[in-house]
Amino acid sequence: MNIVLLGPPGAGKGTLAALLKKELDVPHISTGDIFRSNIKNGTELGKKVQGILASGSLVPDEVTIEMVRARLGEDDTASGYILDGFPRTIRQAEALDEMDEIDAVINFVLDDEEVVKRLSGRRLAPSTGRIYHIITNPPKKEGFDDETGEPLIQRDDDKPEAIRHRLDVYREETAPLIGYYRGKGRIIDIDAAPAPEEVLKAVLAALKA
Ligand code: AMP
Repeated sequence: MNIVLLGPPGAGKGTLAALLKKELDVPHISTGDIFRSNIKNGTELGKKVQGILASGSLVPDEVTIEMVRARLGEDDTASGYILDGFPRTIRQAEALDEMDEIDAVINFVLDDEEVVKRLSGRRLAPSTGRIYHIITNPPKKEGFDDETGEPLIQRDDDKPEAIRHRLDVYREETAPLIGYYRGKGRIIDIDAAPAPEEVLKAVLAALKA
């Protein structure tokens, strides 16, 4: 099953994708994670996109589309995948339609106030991408990952100015995808406000239906 996760930054797409991946046994493909791993490893791509990610703007479509095309060409996607953070523009959605058939688009719905609360409290284990929140999902020891013990970080783009910019970018560039996919009859709206396990239940029920 080929699934796209759509919704504003901070709606819980990454958290849900990690849970859903276990249920469906298909890879979780996060374009943001791929960019961050390139930045961490100092690749050419990483150097090119570092400033863009820090500001909360979008990486150019050509770069992102080719990166996803290469990733979807790998063997582990044969029985399906969960795309998290792609597509983010109409052009990317059109390119994806040419690459593959998408079975379901899950649209996570969350208001701006909650988005800001979630993003500003989000912390990350850099080596695994494991996500915490300082209030709703804190690590056992403040500031450190439960499993590896490494210090948690705050993403540059989870700082207040970048959060505001990312919300503007979402509204202008990505929200139009809701209409795009609704027109194709493939969208499932899910309330992203409840706890992740509840959201997962709702998603699984909707996918079954
Ligand atoms: P995310 O982890 O999905 O919040 O993505 C973090 C950042 O990576 C975004 O703010 C963009 O700078 C970049 N990015 C991720 N996915 C895309 C995409 N599909 N198109 C353009 N830029 C992207």
